[in-house]
Amino acid sequence: MVGAPDLIVLAEGLLDAPGDAVAVHGDRITAIGERASILRRRGPSTRVVDAPRGLLCAGIHDAHAHLVMTGVARLEVDLHGLGPTGVRDRLAAAAAGRAPRRWVIGRGFDPLLFPGDGVWAREILDAACPSHPVLARSHDYHSAALNSVALEQAGFLPTPPEIPGGRIERDESGAPNGLLREAAAVAAEARAGDLTEAEQAAATLAVSAELHAAGITALHDMSGSRRQGVLRALDDAGDLPLDVFATVTPNQVGDEALRRPGSRLRIIGAKAFLDGALGSRTALLLEPYEGDAAHLGIPVLPPEDVHDLVAAASAHGLAACLHAIGNGAVRLALDAITSRGDPALRHRVEHAQMVHDDDLGRFAAHGIVASVQPVHMAEDACLVPRHWGARSREAFPLRRLADAGAPLAFGSDTPIETFDVLDGIRCAVDRTGRDGSVLHPEEALTVTEALRAYTSGAAWAAGVEDELGSLREGARASLTLLSENVAARPEALADCAVAATIVGGRVVFAT
Ligand SMILES: [Zn+2]
Repeated sequence: MVGAPDLIVLAEGLLDAPGDAVAVHGDRITAIGERASILRRRGPSTRVVDAPRGLLCAGIHDAHAHLVMTGVARLEVDLHGLGPTGVRDRLAAAAAGRAPRRWVIGRGFDPLLFPGDGVWAREILDAACPSHPVLARSHDYHSAALNSVALEQAGFLPTPPEIPGGRIERDESGAPNGLLREAAAVAAEARAGDLTEAEQAAATLAVSAELHAAGITALHDMSGSRRQGVLRALDDAGDLPLDVFATVTPNQVGDEALRRPGSRLRIIGAKAFLDGALGSRTALLLEPYEGDAAHLGIPVLPPEDVHDLVAAASAHGLAACLHAIGNGAVRLALDAITSRGDPALRHRVEHAQMVHDDDLGRFAAHGIVASVQPVHMAEDACLVPRHWGARSREAFPLRRLADAGAPLAFGSDTPIETFDVLDGIRCAVDRTGRDGSVLHPEEALTVTEALRAYTSGAAWAAGVEDELGSLREGARASLTLLSENVAARPEALADCAVAATIVGGRVVFAT
């Protein structure tokens, strides 16, 4: 390489590479080695970024995220931790400043905090906002509560539609009580809100700076085709500030316009839901939920449809990215992928929060990615025993998946959970929830194993391991510099922060 490097990054150690320094020309890593020898290449305009006690990793991916939704979530009303009165007051305050008929969107309410599990919803929201349409999402985004105006505008009043894979909760008279679950919540959400694409793009750019500060250089967007117009417009304008590996919805696998490769936006898969979520008791299990012998969860799609959509995605060269949380949905995903999927593609089970012993080895045997968000354990560590009882040992079986050789890719599911990668690593390592409960500590990973799932594992899952995910000369210079060398000193994780983030040779964050 002619000339001095544009950038030199120094640390105490490198993740899975010898030395403690890298040189970058343009968007490429051009040299890796010892601090003294790399620094000899320095020129007058070389920028030097140094974390003397730090660890330099290939750029961290968030392998399961919803980028535009994460930006938009910053504009919504936060309902986390509030009971019925708090929800009512906060939504009423938000509506007060808003033009009539404009939507009020809230997020993070806990359906279990309310008596009657939803009987309240429409009443409370009507009291809060009689004239604005209101939609409030549960923490896991798998349930939504709507007031009467919103139910009308979303087409659920006067006569609710039939929605396969969805549930419309009703009052004694048979009318919708305001609580919608799964596909019904998704259908309502698709008609809710009134942000323009430009407003959504601005929100996405604003939150991207926060993603950079969290060390994230690339993300795998699991929103399907929804809101992809916003990502496409940003990419076409050259404004997408990180690599986005996106998905389409299954009925659009053949849409060439949607799949056009952009500069930083690439389509890798087709995203489909096979079940719901743990907290809503809609994850699909092989055996009934604790305390409810009749309830297995909600199967979103019949098995033959899952098999067909995997085959259709494969025929178009797209990996199947199958949302499966309960052990029943995970088994269905593995069955469909192994029987109908093109084995050359990097198919993925998204979440894989509960895996039956008989299915653990199938990830490694077929090269199927377990795309897990360890940070879900922050909320789920206490929920898992409540809903799954003795089957808790099947929850987040990261140690056994890793030992079996399963390809692992880690993400956050933002905006449902925090995209703080260090929080995610802590969860993978200590498996401790926010309330202090610990979920089967024998399934813990090491810090280094967790970091690999966010870097090389995630790059492999996206099929870009030749370009990203490891520190090699010639690789693209997307890098995450941590302030502490947690590979050598895992106990320093508690004090560790992100020191710098580099996307394609450009320093996008530095302390
Ligand atoms: Zn998700």
